[in-house]
Amino acid sequence: SDFAEISLKDIDQVAQSSFPLCMRHLFEKLREDHHLKHGGRMQLGLFLKGVGLKLDDALAFWKAEFSRKVGAERFDKEYAYGIRHNYGKEGKRTDYTPYSCQKIISSVPSVGDHHGCPYRHFSEENLRAALGRMGVSNRALEDVIDRVRNKHYQLACTLTFEAVHNTSCDAGINHPNQYFSDSKRILES
Ligand code: SF4
Repeated sequence: SDFAEISLKDIDQVAQSSFPLCMRHLFEKLREDHHLKHGGRMQLGLFLKGVGLKLDDALAFWKAEFSRKVGAERFDKEYAYGIRHNYGKEGKRTDYTPYSCQKIISSVPSVGDHHGCPYRHFSEENLRAALGRMGVSNRALEDVIDRVRNKHYQLACTLTFEAVHNTSCDAGINHPNQYFSDSKRILES
């Protein structure tokens, strides 16, 4: 695959340094609430598959969180199937691909959902706070907000990428897994 592999032991650090905001948000909510609704499990789960998290590690990762909320037994009964399904191990055995920005931006999260694109779906106040936590400085932050106001969500994400990596990204961001692989390439070079 084009994507670097990640292991469970450094997933928190990698999430911090190389996940786009949509996935950071889901990751943080999962760590905080020990639960994500279906849309979030799909969006984050397929992204993690795309960055090379192996099925066994994915099961361990989700189980560690969900067990704290619903118990290990219920996880095995109700949620493990969905994860194996994402990896093409259940049902029609389709090898599902991670969602593109376009698909994520056009999703319609309801109350209690954490999937979607934060540039499109967060309030401006929440977006500003989240960007601040990512280390986007004031000047760049205003540029990002400006793009959001004009509904150029992927451009806003591209500007964020440029700000946090201190580099230019001429190709633009069109896929969360591309954000990740470009970030890894820059940080490891
Ligand atoms: Fe995620 Fe794409 Fe939105 Fe960036 S533009 S936060 S990668 S969906």
